[in-house]
Amino acid sequence: MFGCTRSEPQAPAVRERPPYRDDEGRLRVQCWFCEQTVAYEGFDPCAVLLIANWADESRQQSQQFFAHVECFRQSGSGDLYLLDPEDEEDVG
Ligand SMILES: [Zn+2]
Repeated sequence: MFGCTRSEPQAPAVRERPPYRDDEGRLRVQCWFCEQTVAYEGFDPCAVLLIANWADESRQQSQQFFAHVECFRQSGSGDLYLLDPEDEEDVG
């Protein structure tokens, strides 16, 4: 009777909601990887910029995603030389 378990495609959650702000007026953002809200501390939030059609500037489109630095580190997405943990204490 309730056999239909069709699930809707999941869009990045940050795009499904209107922008809203935290108590300090900063945009609340959601992590692309774990989907949790990203607190403003250390390197966080980080933004990941995706550029489509990179080789053809006239067709380029870009989209920004937010992430926890730790989730990005754990994703194995390349060498994050600019996110040296030793520098984190000097930020914010
Ligand atoms: Zn995360």
